[in-house]
Amino acid sequence: MAVDYTTRDGIAVITLNHPPVNGLGHASRAGIVAGLDAAQADPAITAIVLTGAGKVFSGGADITEFNTPKATQAPTLPSVIKAVETSTKPVVAAIHGVAMGGGLELALGAHYRLAAHNAQIALPEVKLGLLPGAGGTQRLPRAIGLEAALNMIVSGTSVPASKLANSGLFDEVLASDQPGEVLDAACAFALRVGCQAGPHPMVRERLVEHPGAAGFLRFARNTVAATAVHFPAPLQCIDAIEAGVLHGFERGLAAERKGFLALVQTPESRALRHTFFAERAAAKLPDVPSSTPLRELRRIAVIGAGTMGSGIAMTFANAGFAVTLLELQAEALERGMAKIRTTYEASVKKGKLDASTLAQRSALITPTLAWDDLRDADLIIEAVFEDLSVKEQVFRQLDALAKPGAILASNTSTLDLNQIAQFTRRPQDVVGMHFFSPANVMKLLEVVRGAQTANDVLATVMHCARRIGKTAVVSGVCDGFIGNRMLEPYLRQAFLLLEEGALPVQVDRAIEAFGFAMGPFRMGDLAGNDIGWAIRKRRAQAHPDAPSSKIADRLCELGRFGQKTSRGWYDYQPGERHARPAAEVEALIVAYSAEHGIVRRTLSNEEIVERLVYALVNEGAKILAEGIAARASDIDMVYLSGYGFPLWRGGPMLYADTVGLYDVERAIRRYAAQPNGDAWQIAPGLVERAAQGRGFNDAAH
Ligand code: NAD
Repeated sequence: MAVDYTTRDGIAVITLNHPPVNGLGHASRAGIVAGLDAAQADPAITAIVLTGAGKVFSGGADITEFNTPKATQAPTLPSVIKAVETSTKPVVAAIHGVAMGGGLELALGAHYRLAAHNAQIALPEVKLGLLPGAGGTQRLPRAIGLEAALNMIVSGTSVPASKLANSGLFDEVLASDQPGEVLDAACAFALRVGCQAGPHPMVRERLVEHPGAAGFLRFARNTVAATAVHFPAPLQCIDAIEAGVLHGFERGLAAERKGFLALVQTPESRALRHTFFAERAAAKLPDVPSSTPLRELRRIAVIGAGTMGSGIAMTFANAGFAVTLLELQAEALERGMAKIRTTYEASVKKGKLDASTLAQRSALITPTLAWDDLRDADLIIEAVFEDLSVKEQVFRQLDALAKPGAILASNTSTLDLNQIAQFTRRPQDVVGMHFFSPANVMKLLEVVRGAQTANDVLATVMHCARRIGKTAVVSGVCDGFIGNRMLEPYLRQAFLLLEEGALPVQVDRAIEAFGFAMGPFRMGDLAGNDIGWAIRKRRAQAHPDAPSSKIADRLCELGRFGQKTSRGWYDYQPGERHARPAAEVEALIVAYSAEHGIVRRTLSNEEIVERLVYALVNEGAKILAEGIAARASDIDMVYLSGYGFPLWRGGPMLYADTVGLYDVERAIRRYAAQPNGDAWQIAPGLVERAAQGRGFNDAAH
């Protein structure tokens, strides 16, 4: 049963009971109306209390019903709210835990509301590119005033009930946060109001009093237009609020409906909803049941206090874990600890961290030079030099020393995890944890599943990722895993574009206008062009016949490694990040083209964007077909959380679906027929889907 109906002392108690968050699916909606009808029909009942079982009142719409006919099957949420509002017996909402989205809209339909002081209150629909579609844009301003409501609706952020105590939303905010006590208080309240003659107050009948409403709305519109450039939902929210404030409740509701229907169709909303589901899906492994027991993780150890090791140690300390940080030499250890100190101090200076938290976090990291200190670690993450023989030495030593059942993780970016696992007699305990730089900032964590990695190791690492605030995506073993493997053909196209006629600034501007946080050349300068150089050399040894442009190697031969040398694809003033076009690089590129007999041509921005993005899509299709990624949405999560792909486009695979795979395939074939076309080997998986009229994300949201 999604809804329970009980009575006590002349009060009907309607309890939403649909774990985990009492989502308002069809059964719940129908159950509420049935409860209301039963209460109306029973002469012994004087009032009704609406509450939630478990930890929350209601988290809103039932996400499992999204895009199914059930979502719109009567009674819809607006119908349920109407039934609540028009009940002749007063309805009291008893709110604890969470009242969000549809849950808050439902409560706004009640005649009275009581809340636990720490209940989280929000209308977060804007985060899915939508607006609150069950009267939220109309009732919340009437309940708490125009400015406060607009801020909540446009930002989607949640506010504790205590902060709204005097806002007009609640009749009582309770000191208790115990669901039972909130319910008792609501029943006592209901007994009192049940004796009073109706009609009982309705939020919809309140007036929004704001003498400067028109001016405020204009200001809000300008602010939102400037900050939410790529997202239409916040402006639609304002339109709906404005219609209600200036022209009354019914006109406002109509504007809300119209806005909702328009937003559902936008690619931005589709992308945000895709991301919402993609994040949840990525945490689940098709062949690792959610009941898999987890290994206990208390003590963490990190080996290597370089760029990555120090960031990884901070990541764990930030989440409250004790971390032992091991180095080979005292000097390197001191350098790593100094980096940790300066990073934390910078956070204090920026006001992101207070001094006592800094002290706590620093105290959690214990530096050591003694391998013996790793004996009781539950999870050991290796972040030493990217050299197989160094990794071998480290893993053999770990195998000899780590306690049984300890998880042995490698942060390798390019080496074969299966080979690393074979350096131990416990390959089932070995897993990849590929953090991104800076590890304490970047959200993405690629969890690399070796051929023998045990299910409980994977489940434990995925669970741990959540605890340390990372978005984890599982990748199979291949060169570059998901993210860097896709980056390789993307960069290859970027270099070919230079040979054919573009300059770094044009390429970067075109892809940044598409929405990437940073184009390939600014990114190279930031990361260090020498890193890519080393990778290309290694790849050239492994695949001497693979097509590649040598233009980036030329740049490195000039020592133009990027920001760290103040010279890369661009010039930099020492200590600055502002990229200025470099005459030396332009000359190098033009000379390179001439040397190879290439007549430089003008490339359109459209061609630049298509070649770069479709290179990602094409490699993504191969990764999917090989089972390196379990689903297309995992690939999207990698690019959204680790590579600056524009959020409003939902990742490369969803973007390809939005364009249509037929058109993507035709574009790739066109580029494959051009000079340099041998860099394209179209993915059979893409061709097959295009022929079948399918997308990568079949269950499109
Ligand atoms: P780094 O050179 O900054 O740091 C490596 C550290 O390991 C050094 O401080 C070194 O003294 C220490 N070390 C070497 N051998 C050791 C041993 N036997 N025992 C203990 N300490 C030892 O390198 P990094 O950039 O931090 O990279 C580390 C690993 O992370 C590599 O596998 C790399 O591929 C991977 N990675 C790097 C990045 C990045 O952007 N830098 C991103 C993801 C993954």
